[in-house]
Amino acid sequence: MGAFLDKPKTEKHNAHGEGNGLRFGLSSMQGWRVEMEDAHTAALGLPHGLDDWSFFGVYDGHAGSRVANYASKHLLEHIVTGAGGAEELRRAGGGPGGGGGTGTVEGGQGTSPEPGAVDAVKSGIRAGFLAIDEHMRSFTDLRNGMDRSGSTAVGVLLSPHHLYFINCGDSRALLCRRGRVCFSTLDHKPCNPREKERIQNAGGSVMIQRVNGSLAVSRALGDYDYKCVDGKGPTEQLVSPEPEVFEIARAPEDEFVVLACDGIWDVMSNEELCEFVRSRLEVSADLEHVCNQLVDTCLHKGSRDNMSVVLVCLPNAPQVSEEASKKDAELDKFLETRVEEIIEKAGEEGMPDLVHVMRILASENIPNLPPGGGLASKHSVIEAVYTRLNPHREEDGNGADLEDPW
Ligand code: MN
Repeated sequence: MGAFLDKPKTEKHNAHGEGNGLRFGLSSMQGWRVEMEDAHTAALGLPHGLDDWSFFGVYDGHAGSRVANYASKHLLEHIVTGAGGAEELRRAGGGPGGGGGTGTVEGGQGTSPEPGAVDAVKSGIRAGFLAIDEHMRSFTDLRNGMDRSGSTAVGVLLSPHHLYFINCGDSRALLCRRGRVCFSTLDHKPCNPREKERIQNAGGSVMIQRVNGSLAVSRALGDYDYKCVDGKGPTEQLVSPEPEVFEIARAPEDEFVVLACDGIWDVMSNEELCEFVRSRLEVSADLEHVCNQLVDTCLHKGSRDNMSVVLVCLPNAPQVSEEASKKDAELDKFLETRVEEIIEKAGEEGMPDLVHVMRILASENIPNLPPGGGLASKHSVIEAVYTRLNPHREEDGNGADLEDPW
């Protein structure tokens, strides 16, 4: 844990899909870490006739990827079971009905579910988390301490009427509505008063902002070393698997949901990310590409962690606009010209390294850089011109850009 490579692994895993009035894209990248411990889930339409429900999740593993991987494959089924099965969920879904099933739902076409049904979903999600955590505890390698891994889990469960935001740990989800951050989950850090109280009541302490001076997150799946205090229930332990669940009624103004691990949030605020994603959606309809740009931007902003992001676009997400595309193309052209000028000016002094070029550009007042992304989000454009003008760069073994702070 915590070990770094000499250079980041920048290959990305991508996926995308469309259905239920949603479009999603996702991207994950190992980055500077020696291991890739993130995992994710994307399910458009759920089994058992819940065709009009969807679920997305991001899991940030620590001390191994075992728990993160298992949760990414099986958390959803535990949630559906925990919520009393598909019947209960269909009741909470209200109209327009469960597609593949009998098609009839209480409340009828297009109507909102009763408040009690929404509460049932929320307690079902909670029960699902406790159940999967108890289940994994019995796995031989996790029981005998061969594997001591744990994982955060952040997710969104979408019914026809609601967004259920689910968080356990320090990954984060946000909702953009009317162009602004309308909601974001709260990270479970050991220093939070409520978390600290539970930790101390379980006989632990918070030192250097960590549980017993060691674990940086106060809620997680797995981490069974922190879940063995006698006489305390599963949600009273040093580390708790209990998620916080918030339901938000869907609105026509909803634009998109982003789920991401701390490798993203370490270098971008909620507002920056929201603005950046909006600006990229105006120049690209390819959601994988938008997610890749976000991940690359965070790498060049200095993130040293694994990175995973899931972007779920709701019907009112920003569309590609001709004006924004034109402006962005002009910016790229401007940057290309500037890089050519900088290299030309260096002339006989020799080829400046990429870090140097980035540093010069960073000191200039460049108009129309993507909001929230800045110069870091144009690293690939700048690097492409640089490489074109300096084709032997790889052979020179020039690794200088790896240290660049943008
Ligand atoms: Mn992380």
